[in-house]
Amino acid sequence: MNVLVINCGSSSLKFQLINSESEKVLAKGLCERIGIDGRLTYQPEGGDKAVSDKAMPTHTEAIQFVIDALTDAETGVVKSLDEIGAVGHRVVHGGEKFASSVVITDEVKKAIEECNDLAPLHNPANLIGINACEKLMPGTPMVAVFDTAFHQTMPEKAYMYGLPYEYYDKYKVRRYGFHGTSHSFVSKRAAELAGKPYDSMKTIVCHLGNGASICAVENGKSVDTSMGLTPLEGLVMGTRSGDIDPAILEFIAKKENLDIAGLMNMLNKKSGVQGLSDGLSSDFRDLEEGANNGNKCAAIALSVFCYRVAKYVGSYVAAMNGVDMIAFTAGIGENSGTVRANVMEYLKYLGIELDAEANGKRGEETLISTPDSKVKVMVIPTNEELAIARETVALV
Ligand code: AMP
Repeated sequence: MNVLVINCGSSSLKFQLINSESEKVLAKGLCERIGIDGRLTYQPEGGDKAVSDKAMPTHTEAIQFVIDALTDAETGVVKSLDEIGAVGHRVVHGGEKFASSVVITDEVKKAIEECNDLAPLHNPANLIGINACEKLMPGTPMVAVFDTAFHQTMPEKAYMYGLPYEYYDKYKVRRYGFHGTSHSFVSKRAAELAGKPYDSMKTIVCHLGNGASICAVENGKSVDTSMGLTPLEGLVMGTRSGDIDPAILEFIAKKENLDIAGLMNMLNKKSGVQGLSDGLSSDFRDLEEGANNGNKCAAIALSVFCYRVAKYVGSYVAAMNGVDMIAFTAGIGENSGTVRANVMEYLKYLGIELDAEANGKRGEETLISTPDSKVKVMVIPTNEELAIARETVALV
C-alpha cells in the first residue's frame, strides 16, 4: 500500500509518499508560504528536485498541488489517487485523550480540537490539514499519529508538576512530552540492534535536533521524558531555553518591560544555543566552527548544551535504575561527533568507553562505544515519516 504522510504546520506542509511493502519513499516535498503566496518543492524517487511558485491561499490548494504532483503524467509516481491507500497525519498534541494512533473520525477530530489549548500553534494547523485531505480524498482512510501518545505510559511521579493539584484537575496541566514517534522508533530499533526483547530493555534516547528531548524507555514504555506541557521544557535547544528558574520571568519582565507574549517569544525564539552564543546561530555547524575559531560564546553554548544532555541522561539512569543502551538521533545526534564525544565524557562513571573512530562516522547506524563498554552507545537515525506510515498501515 502507498501511504501519504502529512506533517502540516500553520503556513507549511511536508509530505512523503511511502510504499509500505518496500518502505521506500516514492516522492517527497514541501509546500511553503501557504496563505502568503505559495511555493511547492517536489522530488520523485531518483529524480530531480523541482521548485515552483503556486498560489496557495489555503491548505486545500496546497494539498491539491501535492496530489497533482504525485499523479503528474511525467514526474508523478502514481497514476491516480486510487493508488494512495491511506493518509497518515502527524498531530502534535493528543493530551490525555490519545495513548496511541487512531483512525480519524468526526469524534477524533473533535477530541484533537479539544487539545488546541495545549498546542495553539500546532493542533489547529494539523486539523486544517486533515480537513483539506478529507475534502480532496474522500473515502481514503486517514490516521492521526500523535507526538505525545508514546509518553502516555509515564507514571504520575514523572508527569505531575509541583503545582496546586487543582490545575491538573481543571486544566490537565501536567507533563506530556513530545517527539514520541521518534523515541518509539529509535528505542524499538535499539532493541533490534542489541538483539534483546523490546520489553526487557532499558534505553535512553537522545533526540537532539533543533528541538531536542531525551526519553527513558523501560521495557518498551516511555517512563520519563524531558519535554513537558509544551516543548519548551528540558534541554537547551536551538532557540528554546529548556529548564530555567521560573522566577527569572518576573525579573526579566520588570527589567525589560516585557509582557507574557514578549517573554514567551524570548524563551521560544531567542534563547537556547542561539541566545547563549550571543545571536551567532542556532545551527551546531556554525557553533562548532565558531568555537574552533575562538568564539567564546559559541564555546559556552556548546558546553551548556552537552552538560544539560549529560545531566538528563544521568537522571534517567537513576529513574530506571540502570541503562542498557544510549541512542543518539536527529540532526545533531546523528551528525555531530563532537557533541556525542563531549556528552559521553561525562558518562565514564557508567563504564562507557567511546570508540573515537566509529564516532567519526555520520548519519548511519553505528555502535560508537567500544566492545568493552558496559553500556552500548549507538547512533540510530530517526525516521518519523516511516514510523507514521507503519502506524497508519497497522490501523487501516
Ligand atoms: P533536526 O531538527 O533534527 O532537523 O536537526 C537540525 C539541526 O541539526 C541543525 O540545526 C544543526 O544544528 C544540526 N546539524 C545538522 N547537520 C549537522 C552537522 N553535520 N554537524 C553538526 N550539527 C548538524
